[in-house]
Formats: sequence, C-alpha cells, structure tokens
Amino acid sequence: MINIVLFGKPGAGKGTQAEFLKEKYKLTHLSTGDIFRFNIKNETELGKLAQTFIDKGDLVPDEVTIKMLQSEVEKNPNSAGFLFDGFPRTIAQAQALDAFLGTKKEVITATIALEADDEILVARLLERGKTSGRADDQDEDKIRNRYQEYNEKTAPLMGYYKEQGKFYAVDGIGSIQEITERLSSVIDNL
Ligand code: AMP
Repeated sequence: MINIVLFGKPGAGKGTQAEFLKEKYKLTHLSTGDIFRFNIKNETELGKLAQTFIDKGDLVPDEVTIKMLQSEVEKNPNSAGFLFDGFPRTIAQAQALDAFLGTKKEVITATIALEADDEILVARLLERGKTSGRADDQDEDKIRNRYQEYNEKTAPLMGYYKEQGKFYAVDGIGSIQEITERLSSVIDNL
C-alpha cells in the first residue's frame, strides 16, 4: 500500500493534481474539503457543523475532522493506498492519522508539498472564486485567514514529517502536466 499526503497552501493545486495522481497510481483520493462540501450541500448534521468554520476560513475542529476521515478510510477496505488531500492540517490530526494507520499495520509513505508564493495563490483563489461558488474563495479577508490558519497550525507539519524522513517538496508553479511529472518523479523514487 502506498499512502501519500498532498501538502500545500489553499490554491496550491492539490485537488487538481490529485485527480491525475489517483488515476496513475490507483489511489483512493480523500479530500476532507470535498467531503465537508458534500455534507454541506446535502445539509447533513456534519455539514451544518462544519459550515460555520469553513465559511469563516477557520479549520473545522480536530475531533470532527479526524472522525470523519477515519470513517472514509474504513469505507475503502480494499484500497491499494490513499491520497490524502487537505488532511492532516494540524499536528493532532497527523498523530491521529499515524495511530489510526498503525492499527491497520499501515504507514504514511510520503508527504509531498506543492510550493508556491502566497501572493500568486491569493490571486489564484480569487480567480477560482468567480466560478467555484465557494464563499471561502470569494473574500480576500477569508482567504487571508485561511493562510493564517495554515501558517499557525499546518506549517508545523513539515517538521513533523521531516523528522520521520517523509517530507518532499516540489515547485508548484508551472503547467498542470509539468507539476504532475514533478510529483510522479518523487513517487516513483519512493
Ligand atoms: P480545502 O478544500 O482543503 O481548501 O478545505 C476547505 C475548508 O474545509 C478549510 O478551509 C477548512 O475550513 C475545512 N477543512 C478541510 N480539511 C480540513 C482539515 N483537515 N482540518 C480542518 N478543517 C479542514
């Protein structure tokens, strides 16, 4: 099994790249953002709970997110591996993921970051907001809050995975295909 964490700031292209990588490596793509949005659209209890946080650009509390992620993994018992997109986003989530995979005798194989400059990403998200319909992509203050959440809570994960010798970074600026190739060359050399 190979289990990859796609890491990067909002707008770095994790979702776009995950679409290619999941086909290429036959991985189960789990995007916590997509799962929350699905629940919001379907007006589930989880969706109602998550929406208040998401609309402000705040992270959804760990307890809720971890439980949701675990149940999505459990739904795919025959998976050849997972591509985690947007999870983990806090140290507590990363620790919970390691512990949870451990119960299945599995580990995270690698964490790959898509690197890009903040100002390019803010412009990208505002552009995406024109068509995505996502409230959190349409307001620059909310976008900036998402970056603050990232810097405070998610950036420390780089150290967490570096200590485990599992952190890789690729340049996230270029054509979609170029970036897929950069990511693939990391995965192929694992
Ligand atoms: P994304 O689509 O990955 O940009 O996620 C959109 C929003 O969903 C984030 O701004 C958070 O509010 C929430 N979210 C997604 N993944 C997580 C996570 N792992 N932990 C907490 N909140 C999350």
